[in-house]
Amino acid sequence: MIGAEAKGPLPGEREARELIRSAGVVLSSEGLVQGTWGNLSVRLPGGFMAITPTGTDYLAMSVADIVIVDLETGEARGGKPSSEKDLHAEIYRRRSEVEAVIHTHSMSACTVASARREVPPILDDLAQIVGPSLRVADYALPGTPKMRKTVLRALRGRMAALMANHGAVALGRSMEEALVCARIVEKGCRAFVESEFLGGAKPINKVEAVLMHEVYLRKYSKKNLERSKSKEGG
Ligand SMILES: [Zn+2]
Repeated sequence: MIGAEAKGPLPGEREARELIRSAGVVLSSEGLVQGTWGNLSVRLPGGFMAITPTGTDYLAMSVADIVIVDLETGEARGGKPSSEKDLHAEIYRRRSEVEAVIHTHSMSACTVASARREVPPILDDLAQIVGPSLRVADYALPGTPKMRKTVLRALRGRMAALMANHGAVALGRSMEEALVCARIVEKGCRAFVESEFLGGAKPINKVEAVLMHEVYLRKYSKKNLERSKSKEGG
């Protein structure tokens, strides 16, 4: 059960609320989310997540607007969570390394998602951060169990995936990493579209792409991320 207000915030809740609020401003100012589209969340200890509320403008959102959701029961406290809360919860349940999830409808990601084209490893940073390809999850109606299933399948061994005719989802072992991932997805999709016009995208070797992703995950391991975070003093 989610603690009553009298019990006070969950461990890490205040930080998570602030992380989401500031990441929302960044995403909005960079044009990765428009208006109230898209949503973002952060894992909380003890089987919870903090997530953006439904239909809120990122630039107007305050930390108090962010909703706390129980990952098992889906029970929410403090408002109405994003309609994609079940997708976020499923990702946290199935991917223990994931600490932050960003869902965007960014322009180039939407273009590639509409064409339902898997993006090959055309850029080093795409291979490093996302993995050896950016898959497209089969189409399913938003908010349905089928959508959760197809997205989780497309995310296997990857830190991001496109959602057919919809948008993109980017994961991170921290909010900072999820933000980088969301940017790299948009950049990679744009480079893919444009290079197809320049005679066709030429991917790097798939084996090398797999290696690059593995090296990245190890080099920037969760432990290292935590170390650098504590060095920054928060
Ligand atoms: Zn969406």
